[in-house]
Amino acid sequence: MKIKEIIKKSHAGDPFSKDELVQMLSGPPDSAGSYLLMAEANRISKELTADRAEIHAQFALNLAPCPRDCAFCSFAQRNRIFNEETRISPKQAIHLARQFEADGASAIYVMTTATYPFDLFLEMSREIRRNLKPETTMVANIGDQSRANAQKVKDVGYAGVYHALRLREGTNTSISPKARQRSIHNFLDAGLGVGTCVEPIGPEHSNEEIAEMVLFTGSFKPSFSGAARRIPIPGTAMARLGMISELRMAQIIAVTRLGVPRTVIGNCTHEPCTLGAMAGANLFWAEMGANPRDTTGKTEEGRGESVKSCKDLFWEAGWSTWDGPSRYYPPPLAS
Ligand code: SF4
Repeated sequence: MKIKEIIKKSHAGDPFSKDELVQMLSGPPDSAGSYLLMAEANRISKELTADRAEIHAQFALNLAPCPRDCAFCSFAQRNRIFNEETRISPKQAIHLARQFEADGASAIYVMTTATYPFDLFLEMSREIRRNLKPETTMVANIGDQSRANAQKVKDVGYAGVYHALRLREGTNTSISPKARQRSIHNFLDAGLGVGTCVEPIGPEHSNEEIAEMVLFTGSFKPSFSGAARRIPIPGTAMARLGMISELRMAQIIAVTRLGVPRTVIGNCTHEPCTLGAMAGANLFWAEMGANPRDTTGKTEEGRGESVKSCKDLFWEAGWSTWDGPSRYYPPPLAS
């Protein structure tokens, strides 16, 4: 299929097949055809959001060696970056959440490693919720959960979760793909929005694998999809596989936008970058505290972006930004 035909099909809003997505992913990222796909994805993302990109913001309740051992994560036990657990206090958590709220983040994500005690997560979440404006969107980024626990996540005031079936789940992680998929459905069944992403993309992933994952993310009516490259954690086995360029990631962001139904208005990327925004990303994350892609416990002093710097990156790429609670997740419960 010629690029012109792909653009025509996209204008008509027709769904693309896996083979068509593979074809889009197969062109050189710096070719005219790839730039046309990026322009089309940008057009769609702007149309769906009235030209207002969102900035969400994440902090972690703990930093710990995690036994789920995802090879790409700085918390993984096998990577030996962090050898002891540290947890933040309710006061520190409230401070970080309120800081993000004051900075204008459209959603606040509370992250934990997979073995953080679930009851403690709920207790901390209740405290955070009580100290935020009722309309502020809260999102949980936690491990796999049963249907009953998913309900508890909703009941403490979360609008949604971030949960992804990662590329080569079960091979590069100790978690079965089925467990991730089951959790996604448990969260959805509880009435939570599920934001997701094609991640973490490395140079070894084939266009077929990426296309399949694009279609999977679009299959369950997520709050947003998107694409994120793997950030190498220095000294780890996975770092030796290298990293894709920002331009290749931009190409994949564009193909993800084209491959996911238009009923899904959000298209994220991480880490924030102007090429991503140019290629149709309409969601970036700011971060503070521990971060699974960083080797410092305070990512605001490392790789993490602030709400302000995310806004600036969108501006550089010709985007306006949204002020107010996220439109990608359903409204939060009253506290
Ligand atoms: S990605 Fe999550 S589950 Fe995997 S090692 Fe890191 S913290 Fe644990």
